[in-house]
Amino acid sequence: MAKTTGFLEYTREDAPKRLVHQRVKDFRELEQLLSDDKLHRQAARCMDCGVPSCHTYGCPVENRIPDFNDLVYRNHWRRALDVLHSTNNFPEFTGRVCPAPCESACTLGINQPPVTIKHIELQIIEKGFKEGWVEAEPPAVKTGKRIAIAGSGPAGMAAAQQLARRGHDVVLMERSDRIGGLLRYGIPDFKLEKWVIDRRIEQMAKEGVIFETGVEVGKDLSVRYLQRSFNAVVLAAGASVPRDLNVPGRDLQGIHFALDFLAQQNKAIAGDELPQEPISARDKHVVVIGGGDTGSDCVGVSIRQGARSITQIELLPKPPQQRSPRNPWPEWPNVLRTSSSQQ
Ligand SMILES: Cc1cc2nc3c(=O)[nH]c(=O)nc-3n(C[C@H](O)[C@H](O)[C@H](O)COP(=O)(O)OP(=O)(O)OC[C@H]3O[C@@H](n4cnc5c(N)ncnc54)[C@H](O)[C@@H]3O)c2cc1C
Ligand code: SF4
Repeated sequence: MAKTTGFLEYTREDAPKRLVHQRVKDFRELEQLLSDDKLHRQAARCMDCGVPSCHTYGCPVENRIPDFNDLVYRNHWRRALDVLHSTNNFPEFTGRVCPAPCESACTLGINQPPVTIKHIELQIIEKGFKEGWVEAEPPAVKTGKRIAIAGSGPAGMAAAQQLARRGHDVVLMERSDRIGGLLRYGIPDFKLEKWVIDRRIEQMAKEGVIFETGVEVGKDLSVRYLQRSFNAVVLAAGASVPRDLNVPGRDLQGIHFALDFLAQQNKAIAGDELPQEPISARDKHVVVIGGGDTGSDCVGVSIRQGARSITQIELLPKPPQQRSPRNPWPEWPNVLRTSSSQQ
């Protein structure tokens, strides 16, 4: 256990964010890093629970959270990085954008704010890159087996990295013009700047992964061809189907799917040429239908594009401020949240 009395001595401190009036002027990431001292105290809050619900119940990839909290507290960063990478290929993505069900499952959350697990994760991986500890891990032995992966979102990327490290020849195929899936063309830069993806792609290329963009599996390459040319095919094509609203007026002008709007903004930041009349919120009164994370991303992009006003509409009733008795720890708390974009 990091520090026996840590959870009694220190309270939770969240990672600082850039001030609202500054961050709305650009698309740069808004979250900043806690100082080493502060992070040390945050790691000290972990109780190293006998049954760590953060790991067993909360984290979908079963990150070994109490172990890396303890290692960070003891300043063993390199070992913390190895522990983190043992379950998670891309902590720099999850450390930035994961909704952190580990934190809502943290035992401390029963009667005080949970451990700031997600930020500790982000700091471990960023320190790893800064210190040069994140290196290519090419396989010692090749199997001679060929694997095609359709779709280059986080699922396809993780599969590609694991399979290449096992010695297989991996080709990652993507119908879009860049690798990354919704990390690249859904999530706005103010939550995840795109050099973060490029940095990993560089490592994966050194590990032997071949990237092919502008290739739509099933159209440009037939399944028969893939079956003939590869030993296995991984389908990691994501969802890609927007949820439409079949209501009167749906066919009017100025109504767009979230992803058409968000992807265009990400492309603009990447320096791509946009259509002559791109979707823009500039000087418009914007209505965002849907109160979830994608809706919030549209709010954040609209503000930065210079919308006159933004109204976000949600179908469900306003959730309570605190957990209801029917929604106890360690369940995901259905409580009112204010996103950074809404702030
Ligand atoms: C606006 C938005 C914001 C989000 N924000 C967050 C967040 O903050 N935190 C979070 O945890 N999650 C967030 N998500 C969800 C998260 O992005 C997805 O869960 C995740 O990207 C899914 O990964 P994936 O690899 O399965 O699929 P995707 O990321 O969808 O990638 C699939 C890829 O496959 C490609 N593809 C599809 N068909 C073919 C084909 N036939 N041939 C070749 N390629 C093909 C697609 O072009 C795409 O690039 C957000 C989603 C959206 C839309
Ligand atoms: S549940 Fe919370 S306090 Fe317990 S091990 Fe996990 S992070 Fe530490």
